[in-house]
Amino acid sequence: MGDNTGNTNLNIDIVVPCYNEQEMISTFYNVTEEIVSKIENTHFTFIFINDGSNDDSLLIMKGLASTYDNVRYVSFSRNFGKESAILSGLEASSGDYVIVMDSDLQHPPAIIPRMVESVRAGHDCCAGYRADRKGEGRFRSFLSRNFYKFNNKMTNVNMPYNATDFRIMCRKAVDAIISLPEVQRFSKGIFAWVGFDTEWIPFENVERPAGKSKWSTTGLFKYAMDALLSFSMFPLKILVTMGSIFSAIAMIFAVYELIKTLVIGKETPGYASTIIVILFIGGILEISLGIIGEYIGRIFTEIKHRPVYIVKETNVEKQDEGPDKETH
Ligand code: UDP
Ligand code: MG
Repeated sequence: MGDNTGNTNLNIDIVVPCYNEQEMISTFYNVTEEIVSKIENTHFTFIFINDGSNDDSLLIMKGLASTYDNVRYVSFSRNFGKESAILSGLEASSGDYVIVMDSDLQHPPAIIPRMVESVRAGHDCCAGYRADRKGEGRFRSFLSRNFYKFNNKMTNVNMPYNATDFRIMCRKAVDAIISLPEVQRFSKGIFAWVGFDTEWIPFENVERPAGKSKWSTTGLFKYAMDALLSFSMFPLKILVTMGSIFSAIAMIFAVYELIKTLVIGKETPGYASTIIVILFIGGILEISLGIIGEYIGRIFTEIKHRPVYIVKETNVEKQDEGPDKETH
């Protein structure tokens, strides 16, 4: 990317997933537009994704679209989740670069100029990470920090601790992400998996000005499971290793018992130890089946090849390249 020097005109799309964000969308647009309109030699287009909101989010998007000509919206038939909304925004985009960011201003638009500078300087992508976790419980940040450490060890993708999905990406990276066919999408992992040279810049964590976070503790747990299971076979490898160790122990034990019976003769005590071993092995088997079941469940969902999202209405004009732009 050597042609992005300051005076090349860049078309940049901003993809914004929104779920029940009626309090935030207009403010988000005004604050962000104010900042990006000052970046020289760029043209920004906003693509709002209404992820099945049951408040007035769509009405507000439509209002913005009729007032400003750089606003597009895509509205889903129901809530498909943020990951699906991101994919849909990337598919609807056509800019040289695409920014993905939250609608609640927790991803500060103030660093967009810095991100644009970064890609102009030759980076393929530039992504934000949180410099701190203000406004988040200690326990939650502890879990999250250790989860990233663990996940990076277990999988072959590397996500910096505190990585967010606030980022700008070049067209090639966007096309690569769109080309990944999986239905269960873990964006942070996918961004890391496709590679491309990424500059990471820190930003201060800000609290949500209005509306509320859509994450529950169970939601976060599911997210963590997705992260691990969609990029790693490691849990299965642990099972194989454990299985081998236990089989080896059992063999040694069997030989020992056999010799003992032959030499000393029959001996009845040993009930407690037998039960303990049976229960222990039973437990391990159950966990193993559970883990295998998780993978099978995922395979089941993938092979159905259902679309990642369904669009009900949009003002994004269909692009000529690619027949399947609307639903994927
Ligand atoms: N979001 C979405 N679909 C969902 C949940 C969330 O599009 O099912 C959007 C939400 O509107 C926001 C972004 O994803 O723009 C981040 O959500 P949230 O602020 O709830 O997450 P947090 O910042 O607490 O991690
Ligand atoms: Mg948020």
